[in-house]
Amino acid sequence: MPILNFMRRPHNELEREGRSAAEVQRDQHEPEKTCPNCHKEQPLSRLWANGNVCSCGYHFRMSARQRIRFLTDKDTFSELFADISSGDPLGFPGYAEKLETVGAASGERDAVICGTAKIGGTDCCMFVMEPYFMMGSMGAVVGEKITRLFEYATEKRMPVLGCTVSGGARMQEGLISLMQMAKTSAAVLRHSEAGLFYLVLLTDPTTGGVTASFAMEGDIIFSEPGATVGFAGARVVEQTTRKALPKGFQTAESLLEHGFVDAILPRSRQREVISNVLRMHSESEGRDAE
Ligand SMILES: [Zn+2]
Repeated sequence: MPILNFMRRPHNELEREGRSAAEVQRDQHEPEKTCPNCHKEQPLSRLWANGNVCSCGYHFRMSARQRIRFLTDKDTFSELFADISSGDPLGFPGYAEKLETVGAASGERDAVICGTAKIGGTDCCMFVMEPYFMMGSMGAVVGEKITRLFEYATEKRMPVLGCTVSGGARMQEGLISLMQMAKTSAAVLRHSEAGLFYLVLLTDPTTGGVTASFAMEGDIIFSEPGATVGFAGARVVEQTTRKALPKGFQTAESLLEHGFVDAILPRSRQREVISNVLRMHSESEGRDAE
């Protein structure tokens, strides 16, 4: 896809120039975060002013609501299906308590947030997975909300942007969580058959049943730099195949090389590129991008 070639650069301008984040007033008691890549300590406000990206280019994890605020036009996000929450269908030991503590800690009811928003002036439906709720694992609620979002988008003839982060299917919901792969995929297919556009942004990590279903079903698939994207974990693959894995196995960069990902998109360019791509596809359907 030649139009995407200009984006096939693994480094953004922040990474290349080692430019530091905007200077922000800092509180001397402000907590700092240590970058696992360059080991520099940085105050949270400076990191945040830089989209939660270290000056070395390392992309820190973002909560779903931080990402929504980062990507969408101010005050345009309107949440859908917010009242759905998980039951404990199998009576799995400790699951009900876990849902309660994780819910209190993350402030979310489950591992995905859905809604509509404008990005660069273009309307879209979006779902953003929540890494701080059981590592974005997919149970019945995640499957149901994403399915409903695709059904809503099909009915309203809107594009969907999906930002994925997930440890895979939620083991506490057993087979029910595995069923969500088929259910979400069917909804994605109906949206696609209606001629509508689905854009995926893979973030670190996207694995298991999420990779094996809706994360890899986008018309265009972008990934954040350095993200781990795969199905089974590297150690499991190595033990099963009894072969040494190639360098960079399951990284976004190796997926790009092997054609699973269309472009690596650093955060500094995400709003611009995502809004351009959404606008292009809105116009191709004769929708007014304004
Ligand atoms: Zn760093």
